[in-house]
Amino acid sequence: MSSETTHRPLVAILSGAGISTDSGIPDYRGPQGLWRQDPEAEKLVTYEYYMTDPEIRRRSWQMRRDSKALHARPNAAHEAVARLERSGVPVRVITQNVDGLHQIAGMPARKVLELHGTARAVQCTHCEARSGMDEALERVAAGEADPACRECGGILKSATVMFGESLDPEVLTEAVAVAQACEIFIAVGTSLQVQPAASLAGLAAEHDARLIIVNAEPTPYDELADEVVREPISVALPTLLDRIAAG
Ligand SMILES: [Zn+2]
Repeated sequence: MSSETTHRPLVAILSGAGISTDSGIPDYRGPQGLWRQDPEAEKLVTYEYYMTDPEIRRRSWQMRRDSKALHARPNAAHEAVARLERSGVPVRVITQNVDGLHQIAGMPARKVLELHGTARAVQCTHCEARSGMDEALERVAAGEADPACRECGGILKSATVMFGESLDPEVLTEAVAVAQACEIFIAVGTSLQVQPAASLAGLAAEHDARLIIVNAEPTPYDELADEVVREPISVALPTLLDRIAAG
């Protein structure tokens, strides 16, 4: 085989809330997200309020307990991404989502960069010890309204990036490297209005990647894109990715 036929382009997929709506997870944190529309709800996911107000923490744990997101299943779009990776195409996912559905669909965890962390784990704000969200929610169900870290007694929080917290610099550095190195950059289900995630699309285009946007609404990067797809994601993405897998 010539090197030309064996060449598989690095595909970067930036996913936002829109990829998970067909799994029943609403957009919480986007510019028009539920949290932005409800200041009281936004407090529950704002670091300063969370750290200083035990009542906010109690309500935040109730919200996590009642959330259906932890029971959501991947949809055809998540499955198509995992299928592309299994086909031998090098794939990296950069996601704004905290639902873990790419990994549940079969993407290797090391190939998924979670810009906003994960709702499937909890982290101590003092010693940074991590454990499962399931275990913490069992403690809430058993009567601990605001479970403390078992290692040091510190305040536990979801391992998501709250409003008022910085993104993990290592995750961000890796995401930038992927955006610069990829040959195809697909932004899917994201309004490309939240930085720094949105700027990754521009960065990829600057580095001569083919930019494809799959989103129901227009984005600020549409003019820069080589291809804009408006069809529903769980239909459009499998079609698009199967075409890329076929070369
Ligand atoms: Zn701790």
